[in-house]
Amino acid sequence: MIVERDLDVVVMGAGLAGMSAGLSAAAAGASTVVVERAPTIGGSAAISGGYVWAIPDADALRAEDPGEFQRHGHVVVDGYRDAIDWLAGFTAPVTGEQPSLSGRGHKFDMPVLIAHLMRHLAAAGGDVLLEGDVTDVSRSGDRYVLEVATPDGRVVLRSRCLVLATGGRQGDSTARAALAGGAYLPPLRANPWSRGAGAAVAASLGASLNLANKGFYGHLYPTGVRAVSPVDFITFALYQSCEGVMADPAGTRFAAESRGDHNNAMALADRGCRAVLLWSAEVQDRAAAAPFIPGSPQLDRWAFARDRGGRVTTGETFAAVAAQARGWGYDLAGLAGDVDAMARLGPGRVFAAEVEPAVTFTFGGIEVDDSGAAVDRDGVPVPGLFAAGADMSDVYHRGYGGGLCLAVVSGRRAGALAAAASARVPAPVR
Ligand SMILES: Cc1cc2nc3c(=O)[nH]c(=O)nc-3n(C[C@H](O)[C@H](O)[C@H](O)COP(=O)(O)OP(=O)(O)OC[C@H]3O[C@@H](n4cnc5c(N)ncnc54)[C@H](O)[C@@H]3O)c2cc1C
Repeated sequence: MIVERDLDVVVMGAGLAGMSAGLSAAAAGASTVVVERAPTIGGSAAISGGYVWAIPDADALRAEDPGEFQRHGHVVVDGYRDAIDWLAGFTAPVTGEQPSLSGRGHKFDMPVLIAHLMRHLAAAGGDVLLEGDVTDVSRSGDRYVLEVATPDGRVVLRSRCLVLATGGRQGDSTARAALAGGAYLPPLRANPWSRGAGAAVAASLGASLNLANKGFYGHLYPTGVRAVSPVDFITFALYQSCEGVMADPAGTRFAAESRGDHNNAMALADRGCRAVLLWSAEVQDRAAAAPFIPGSPQLDRWAFARDRGGRVTTGETFAAVAAQARGWGYDLAGLAGDVDAMARLGPGRVFAAEVEPAVTFTFGGIEVDDSGAAVDRDGVPVPGLFAAGADMSDVYHRGYGGGLCLAVVSGRRAGALAAAASARVPAPVR
């Protein structure tokens, strides 16, 4: 049996951006369906650390991310307070505001929050179609037509507006390898469903993509470990690299390590993906004794890596670890003359891991205008087509200012604009 539905708004992807968009559209009076490829909603948001955070102001944003493609980061900076208030209206944050990477934020219980969004979406008349495989999207008159294969049969959705919120391209191994020059496949650190469907649909409808933006949010992993649960995405992330020393096989440092583990992962992707990370016993003791961000799990990441097959070691001195690293193919002798490196490592015990960059989400994707509308090569909006969350290109390029906040701010905006463009409701006052 084929089910056909005429709608105002269809959203592809039921992660945080898609659920925020779907609820905002439905609450504005638009008939709305969210199509989700996976068997459950929530995407990477549901397995994330749950910190909804943002960089405090434009200067700090530019200091964190000086990349040429960082064009829309202000959306996160400007929208943070409103996003927190909106989310807190569903469920109280589990922490007060506190420092988080290069900004500040609150931790939310994400699965619970997403359950609230679902409840309100349903109460507003919206619906979610699970395990929906969108096999074709076309334009007919002023409608988008989506062919969707579901376990219960074929569904045809016609809508005035389409919001793309499929969570980025990193689940596609070719896209992930391209972030590192194509010769190396970095591990995935995210839900497995976000494989670039939003970008592919956008391109097929005439929207422009910026795949020259090879930035991504990710973390350093010890080589040799294998994630077997979403918690491992947190367990293996070597946040302490910001206090360490990273060197390539020739023993050359190539990253400003203090810029943070997420930026160290990007630097490593640019450098061929082979490096060794060293840190002092003092850093190790602190990293093992307390969570990197208050409210996140307390984990001795070095010990987890050791027991899960990771390539890690420790020695009484730098020289002892350098000798072991020689067996891994690293010549670290020159680091002994690096005053800053030796100050970071100190005179005592040193810990080390061979590392690779694990990818959480891509920064390059669907090009949008200042309102979040997908645009063609000339910058002209494609009618009724919007992108949100990690599908949106150029929010970040060479730094990172928060993914969950981006999902909420851009998702709500896309949902409201799509509802308005569907002509059943007045345009939102901006
Ligand atoms: C381990 C981990 C920890 C993190 N911690 C934080 C944190 O503490 N703070 C923070 O700000 N960010 C964090 N992030 C990043 C954050 O989770 C993402 O930035 C955010 O979830 C992006 O929202 P999104 O809606 O764009 O994508 P997602 O939440 O991933 O949702 C995308 C959805 O689209 C669906 N989809 C994909 N393809 C299709 C298709 N063809 N059709 C229909 N649906 C499709 C996916 O199944 C998924 O449900 C973390 C991520 C991970 C993985």
